[in-house]
Amino acid sequence: MIIGSGVAGLNASMYLPKSMDTLVVSKDYAWECNTFFAQGGVAVASSKTDISLHVEDTLNAGDGHCNQDIVELMCIEGQNRIKDLMKFGFEFDKDSKGNLLYTKEAAHSTSRILHAGGDATGRELHLFLMKNLKFPILYNTQVVDILIKNNVCYGVEVFHDGKVFNIYAKKIVIASGGIGSLYEYHTNSRSISADLHGICYEHGIELRDMEMMQFHPTVFVKSRVVRKQLLSESLRGEGATIVDEDGNRFLFDYDKRGELSPRNVVSEALYEYHKKTNKDIYLDVSNFQENYFKKRFPTIYFNMKNSGFNLPKDKIPISPAFHYAIGGVKTDFNGKIDNIKDIYFIGEVASTGAHGANRLASNSLLEGLVFSQRAAKDIIKTISYNKKNRHFASSNEQLVKNGDKELKNELRNFMWQNAGIVRYKADLKKALNRVEEMLKLPIGKLIRLRLLTSRGIIKSALKREKSLGAHYIKGKN
Ligand SMILES: Cc1cc2nc3c(=O)[nH]c(=O)nc-3n(C[C@H](O)[C@H](O)[C@H](O)COP(=O)(O)OP(=O)(O)OC[C@H]3O[C@@H](n4cnc5c(N)ncnc54)[C@H](O)[C@@H]3O)c2cc1C
Repeated sequence: MIIGSGVAGLNASMYLPKSMDTLVVSKDYAWECNTFFAQGGVAVASSKTDISLHVEDTLNAGDGHCNQDIVELMCIEGQNRIKDLMKFGFEFDKDSKGNLLYTKEAAHSTSRILHAGGDATGRELHLFLMKNLKFPILYNTQVVDILIKNNVCYGVEVFHDGKVFNIYAKKIVIASGGIGSLYEYHTNSRSISADLHGICYEHGIELRDMEMMQFHPTVFVKSRVVRKQLLSESLRGEGATIVDEDGNRFLFDYDKRGELSPRNVVSEALYEYHKKTNKDIYLDVSNFQENYFKKRFPTIYFNMKNSGFNLPKDKIPISPAFHYAIGGVKTDFNGKIDNIKDIYFIGEVASTGAHGANRLASNSLLEGLVFSQRAAKDIIKTISYNKKNRHFASSNEQLVKNGDKELKNELRNFMWQNAGIVRYKADLKKALNRVEEMLKLPIGKLIRLRLLTSRGIIKSALKREKSLGAHYIKGKN
């Protein structure tokens, strides 16, 4: 059974034989996942010689916190996974002569980002993987627990169509994505609310680097929808600039790489500059020709048009927003975890060590492709059809109670304020106290899972006393 219909879950299914009776479970509609909204592309070494540079860039972005063996494996095997995708029939954007078009993003030393449909890489990839899905998929089905006995996983408890029940399987793959909805401003799909992270905390499964949260610097947050419009890194990679309301390109005061600095540097600079000057900040894309812009960034063009912007002429007001969970469930080379058998974690929910303290742009789709294939291979090798079934009683716990919605909104607000781009110890402690208070209230299970994950993030942030990678901590107390 595969939980999650994003790149990790669906790509794992591509490597399982049809004879392996598999069910894909998805909390929402299949496309409600972060994969669908990915814009920029997939990072992959553009040649054999680029592999070592890709490794080096990934390690540099990770700020000395990556697992080097995992990074090397990802950069080497990544090339093969891209070849597989193309062999299966997926088409990346090409030039008129049929050569793959590689673009550049922040902190990459060479052009090595493959894209599809211009800025619709995620949508194209998701559509392709869904079209090729050979197993049934159960929509609108939320996992609310995992079933573990004597260190073996037997299945999951789900909420579907007003009922809670168990689904059993010989092997269980968790590909449930990140934690976006814990923050007030984020770019993530509405289905991404850290349920599985919370469940792991309840079961004592190890999560690591949970303080490492990536904030994307260029997001249009003034819309009313919950998921905020991301303005892809490729825009800056291809010459867009960041200016204040007076047209000042102030980023060079913070880092000599200016707009091409890593994400966290740009996010922190935007946060600090706005705090210091109270000036509005904009993304200026007027370097692009209109026809090229429409073709290269169609999603951004049309979404922003719907919000009243005429691109590339108009400047777009921007702010950083939560974007990507670097930390997660600690896994090995095949998505397996210590102590519990027959369960795998892949994609954004996992922490393989590939991103260290900060993810290099567009390495996450690649990580999903690489480790989903490894998990699938391991499943084929180790599945035991003689595994005994076990019965688990349903917990009967109420999932949602009156007042949970208000607590959820309060949590999102104080996570953004206190455990966001710049963290102060005093604020983190205040947030932790409030989380502990909320956990003692008569609350439903789903909000408890969010609170447990938030507590994990805050505690990890308090433990790491010095700034590292995406974790920026200030103040002594
Ligand atoms: C706007 C945006 C742009 C991005 N651009 C890029 C990019 O250009 N390049 C790049 O490499 N990365 C990009 N990323 C990051 C990348 O898209 C994600 O890290 C990646 O797609 C995660 O894939 P996944 O399969 O792990 O999770 P997801 O694609 O998020 O899928 C998670 C799945 O799990 C399901 N699920 C969640 N909870 C439950 C539950 N309790 N029960 C059942 N099902 C559940 C969801 O419904 C969903 O189907 C971007 C992210 C966003 C938000």
